[in-house]
Amino acid sequence: MCEKTEGFSAKAILRGLHKVETKVIKIKEENINWQYIEEAGAIIRAGGLVAFPTETVYGLGGDALNAASSGKIYEAKGRPSDNPLIVHIASMDKLAAIVREVPEAAYKLAKRYWPGPLTMIFNKAACVPAQTTGGLETVAVRMPSHKVASALIEAAGGYIAAPSANLSGRPSPTTAKYVIEDLDGRVDMIIDGGEADIGLESTIIDLTGDVPVILRPGYITEEMLKETIGRVDTDRTILDGNAKQAPKAPGMKYRHYAPKGNLVLVEGTQAQVVSYMNEQLRQYKLERIKTGVIATDETKDRYLADSIKSVGKREDEEQIARQLFKILREFDDEEVQVIYAESFESHGVGEAIMNRLLKAAGHQVVYLQ
Ligand code: AMP
Ligand code: MG
Repeated sequence: MCEKTEGFSAKAILRGLHKVETKVIKIKEENINWQYIEEAGAIIRAGGLVAFPTETVYGLGGDALNAASSGKIYEAKGRPSDNPLIVHIASMDKLAAIVREVPEAAYKLAKRYWPGPLTMIFNKAACVPAQTTGGLETVAVRMPSHKVASALIEAAGGYIAAPSANLSGRPSPTTAKYVIEDLDGRVDMIIDGGEADIGLESTIIDLTGDVPVILRPGYITEEMLKETIGRVDTDRTILDGNAKQAPKAPGMKYRHYAPKGNLVLVEGTQAQVVSYMNEQLRQYKLERIKTGVIATDETKDRYLADSIKSVGKREDEEQIARQLFKILREFDDEEVQVIYAESFESHGVGEAIMNRLLKAAGHQVVYLQ
């Protein structure tokens, strides 16, 4: 059993009227400052907001069982309120209280991948407020592996609702610098825990139907999930921007991860891509428009752009995942106006990379072959 909670921090009441004073603290995963964790947990228990590090990206946390806290998360992010939040737990014994039932597949997946970058969707228990689930009867749950995150979740009472700690529509933050940029003055505390290990948001799998369905690809791939539970489908609407059908994960319909510059993906052989991009880049140069390219180590010296950023070696997908959001943010810092990106293989972790890139580009792709 769990119960809805209530409460406001004094600062929280003032939100909306005044800017909140944001305290920024550093906590190292390998040497946790428990006094800080206690302080951060108390803020969340009182209805306030704390941004914190996880192994995927930074999260913007509030008490998941407090409707008012969830409301404040939407407000702080400028997020549409029908885009549900993920509830973060730190131990398996906390799961049963917030869901109607735990299917067998969930136990198998939890045993293999929790704590870790996997979010599972269940039918929700009554104590989970509609504000947390964007009005849905289902709830998304994840158990992060980052030690600062799990310490905070426990100190906060066991349930933290947290979307990524960026302003709605912007790339998810993989370092505290970008959390501060987006959320300073909007949350009570930001915990700086260094750079995120994975750099992409969790894989989301819906376990409420007959067949488990991947709603968002991530570091834990379809192949890995199939190995553990057998049949798994993927909601194709999340990968195909032109799909007529609305995607099942509500947040997926919104523009996401967008840099300020116009981003276009280019698909083709290496030679085709380099020559096409350089042709375009030359033109922009004449027009004095600042350009950027998302390249790989193999091609980075071949482009004519003002700013060329390599995501790493083409075959090192983990490194590409870690770099992607940071690079999108760096182009913003440099005020790049037009960005071209190379495309990547659409399987394994590459599927998640392409999913985020396509969304960041608003599905603008140039196909050269
Ligand atoms: P974020 O933490 O910013 O990556 O956002 C969480 C995402 O999880 C949302 O955008 C939704 O796509 C997804 N999500 C959360 N809860 C549910 C749910 N109950 N059903 C389907 N998708 C969900
Ligand atoms: Mg997000």
